Amino acid sequence: MLGSMRLLLVEDDAMIGEAVQSLLRGEGYVADWVQDGRQADTALHGHQYDLVLLDLGLPGLDGLQVLRQLRARKDATPVLVATARDAVRDRIAGLDAGADDYVVKPYDMDELLARLRALARRASGRAEVQYEHAGVRLNPATREASVNGSPVLLSGREWAVLQALLARPGSTLSRQQLEDKLYGWGDEVSSNAIEVYIHGLRKKLGPGAILNVRGVGYMLPRA
Ligand code: CA
Repeated sequence: MLGSMRLLLVEDDAMIGEAVQSLLRGEGYVADWVQDGRQADTALHGHQYDLVLLDLGLPGLDGLQVLRQLRARKDATPVLVATARDAVRDRIAGLDAGADDYVVKPYDMDELLARLRALARRASGRAEVQYEHAGVRLNPATREASVNGSPVLLSGREWAVLQALLARPGSTLSRQQLEDKLYGWGDEVSSNAIEVYIHGLRKKLGPGAILNVRGVGYMLPRA
């Protein structure tokens, strides 16, 4: 899946963490990575994530505690817990503590990506695999984009902006909300970056495809 999904990766194993973060970034996710439970708790307090991939065995605060505290705050951020292949009890405990799904380690990377896509769809109340609005179509699984049936080539960040807008046609997203979807910690954000992506998208999709709501942000017109 390309872009617009901001994910918190909680993994204490440096090799696995690096591999998964780089996989997710390659797929266009904005993936922040923390290596212990307390950092995870702090990150979840301070940022709104679209998805969390949570290892249960962690130093500091274990994954179940992180999850219970998240749910105790009535935070419904979708959480995929990672457990060992034979750890049935951990899976049950994770689901009972408020996880939305689980995935077993060692990861099958394709399965991990598919579960994250499924979780993102469920969280947004979408049964559809594709995004479609007013002739614009995005398929995150195949990475194909089209306008009125004609394929268009989007950059990763154009895709991310468009997917965020397509997730909520008719509602306005501020520049800040779009930046939060596009950039992780430590990324340099130029002040007019979003305008540049919007400009690029309008050239590809048509000038009326994205509306500028003066002083507020951007939206797709209601169909
Ligand atoms: Ca671990």
